[in-house]
Amino acid sequence: MEKKEKESPKKDSAQNVSSIPYYNFFIVLVVLMLLNALVVPHISNKKIINTDYGTFVKKIDNGDVKQVKIDEGKIYYSALDENKEEKTYQTGAVDDPDLVNRLLAARSPNENGKIEFTQTIPQQSSPFISFLLFWVLPGVIFFWIFRSGSKMIQERMGGGDNVMSFGKSNAKIYAESEVKTTFADVAGQDEAKEALAEIVDFLHNPQKYASIGASLPKGALLVGPPGTGKTLIARAVAGEAKVPFFAMSGSEFVQMFVGVGAAKVRDLFKQAKEKAPCIIFIDEIDAIGKKRDSRFGGNDEREQTLNQLLTEMDGFDGKTGVVILAATNRPESLDNALMRPGRFDRRIQMELPDLEGRKAILNVHLQKVKHQNIDLDLVARATAGTSGAELANIVNEAALRAVRLGKEYVTTVDLEESVEVVIAGAQKKGKVISDEEKKIIAYHEIGHAMVAAKQKNSAPVHKITIIPRTSGALGYTMQVDAGEQNLMSRDELLNRIATLTGGRAAEEIICNTVTTGASNDIEQATKLARAMITRYGMSEEFDMMALETVNNAYLGGDSTLACSAETSASIDREVLKMIKDGHEKALQIIRDNIDKMHELTDYLLKKETITGEEFMGILNN
Ligand code: ADP
Ligand code: ZN
Ligand code: MG
Repeated sequence: MEKKEKESPKKDSAQNVSSIPYYNFFIVLVVLMLLNALVVPHISNKKIINTDYGTFVKKIDNGDVKQVKIDEGKIYYSALDENKEEKTYQTGAVDDPDLVNRLLAARSPNENGKIEFTQTIPQQSSPFISFLLFWVLPGVIFFWIFRSGSKMIQERMGGGDNVMSFGKSNAKIYAESEVKTTFADVAGQDEAKEALAEIVDFLHNPQKYASIGASLPKGALLVGPPGTGKTLIARAVAGEAKVPFFAMSGSEFVQMFVGVGAAKVRDLFKQAKEKAPCIIFIDEIDAIGKKRDSRFGGNDEREQTLNQLLTEMDGFDGKTGVVILAATNRPESLDNALMRPGRFDRRIQMELPDLEGRKAILNVHLQKVKHQNIDLDLVARATAGTSGAELANIVNEAALRAVRLGKEYVTTVDLEESVEVVIAGAQKKGKVISDEEKKIIAYHEIGHAMVAAKQKNSAPVHKITIIPRTSGALGYTMQVDAGEQNLMSRDELLNRIATLTGGRAAEEIICNTVTTGASNDIEQATKLARAMITRYGMSEEFDMMALETVNNAYLGGDSTLACSAETSASIDREVLKMIKDGHEKALQIIRDNIDKMHELTDYLLKKETITGEEFMGILNN
């Protein structure tokens, strides 16, 4: 059985945080340089020759000087040089009381024989203007550039908020008419709805609760695997209560600058209090609500934000009419302070839907597409373990398939095919497989089905196919439980392991070969056997001892061994023994039914896909 591991639906990918636009600082530099050039008195671009005061006096005495301009600390003068050409000179002004007499007395090449001389009136530039020019203007320019720069950073980081205005938050405010979602859109999840109905009632008539003196929980935390409808049900609460809905994701609070997230929290609660009664919804709260610990150095920004959230939740009483909902799929990572009474004291569990739940969810989503004669029960049974989001996706894939085939309605076949697409990927038509390989694949799949069929307590075979899939599966055998299964017995699990080894067993006995085609089976069988021993207490040696703890139960559930190295080694031996027993059993079943194996494989090779009924028909006649 080649069965793809289910992938959790991808969440929106993280926004790219771009680098700070450094070019802004170049702009600042250029502006400052321009400013400098404007303010510093600029002499015309005529070439000015530097001379000392002695030369200046000598030139006056020689009668070569035509014009003198006495400036602050400097004297500019024009005079003839040795070649009788007029040049402009400058020299430092020396405190020379005789200068004026000397100039008046001197000869000059001018027409009237006198030197023209002027003194500029010392311009005491107004202190106010220079203050403006030198201090305020650069400041304003800096501010403006920083502002636009940080705005740009903010926009690239996904927030429209401005770093400089710490008082604003960008919580989307949904007017009551905007939330159209109601509890009717959320199928199944009756317990969650029941718990939330009380909140809706409270928001409708708070005085009923106030008159008794009851105050409602301030917050409810929705926990569960991805895609179980946490976000959906939070919106439904707002839709039912017809109150404003402030929705923000935890990650929106986590900012680059320490304190910004906390400011956002403050602002969010301020706005909410003004709009009460209303609902605040913080999605994926684990982004800010992670346990505070010093082991990894901590994260100032996140912790400040969390502290602010805790403070705000304490800051209003339960009669204000602000209800805080939050959602997470990592409840174990949340800080304990968030969960204590008075904060998120109500925990609402959203589980993967059961058979009835899956039917209901499929039904809700089928209402949105044209459909005919759907065998809901069959599809729901074939989708054990899928989340609401995946079911929604399956219905949509089915509708797309119907369009592709030019049909007017979605039928059961479309749904079945899209279930397979979700589980095993799309059909890979172009893949070239030699006849020899096809035969091995067919025996492998019939091997699985045969072992499953010949054991009691194993799920009936629903479908066998040797059409390759994009996930890499070259064929697979689909088993569908008759009803809902809540408990698995030891025997059932052992049967499953035997069934998983059935493919390889058929290769060995009939084709005299072993192939890589069993890699996925091996992985699954090992995982199962290990879980039976370390977690389900199903081995004699370890009895009911817990040897593994599971982390992140809602997100794939990776586990950590909690035992000594010796124990770990004997776990491995026990796992191996369990798999070997299953393998032996499978080999025996195939040997005993070798004729039927050939007959069924021929049939499968001819048809490529066969149903469980066809399979059982041939097996039992
Ligand atoms: P979560 O927040 O738990 O990860 P969402 O609320 O975002 O999951 O669910 C994603 C989508 O899956 C929803 O928009 C809806 O279409 C579908 N869905 C999930 N659970 C349900 C349900 N119980 N009833 C109907 N649709 C559901
Ligand atoms: Zn297999
Ligand atoms: Mg969500």
